[in-house]
Amino acid sequence: MAHDYDDQNIFAKILRGEIPNDTVLETEHCLAFNDISPQAPVHVLVIPKGAYVSYDHFAAEASDAEIADFTRAIGEVCRIKDLSGADAAGGFRVISNAGPHGSQEVPHLHMHVLGGRPLGRLLD
Ligand code: 5GP
Repeated sequence: MAHDYDDQNIFAKILRGEIPNDTVLETEHCLAFNDISPQAPVHVLVIPKGAYVSYDHFAAEASDAEIADFTRAIGEVCRIKDLSGADAAGGFRVISNAGPHGSQEVPHLHMHVLGGRPLGRLLD
């Protein structure tokens, strides 16, 4: 699958500081910010700073340092937002949409971190 990156996408503009964002966490390789249209009390988007379209693109081409930082940033957002999956009344969902079948709107890899309410079953 080709991964031509469009540097005019909205998250690229956020990374360049051309559009404001409500930052939750910034690391060496990642930015996490609140979704502009939250679908749950907690709805944070975690994105790599590198130009990756989707998770398969990222996994194939990112460095081990970027992958480790991204993975840890997602966990850190869960900690910052107090979403421990070990809590009886806690937990969260991490999802990434890719391509047309995944209904991806913004062509820069992002993980949705959702929580703060029961999210229902995604797959039956
Ligand atoms: P996708 O459908 O690509 O997985 O999700 C894109 C997400 O980006 C949506 O949840 C949408 O609300 C969010 N979004 C789109 N534009 C902006 C923006 O300018 N700022 C922020 N913070 N979120 C955005």
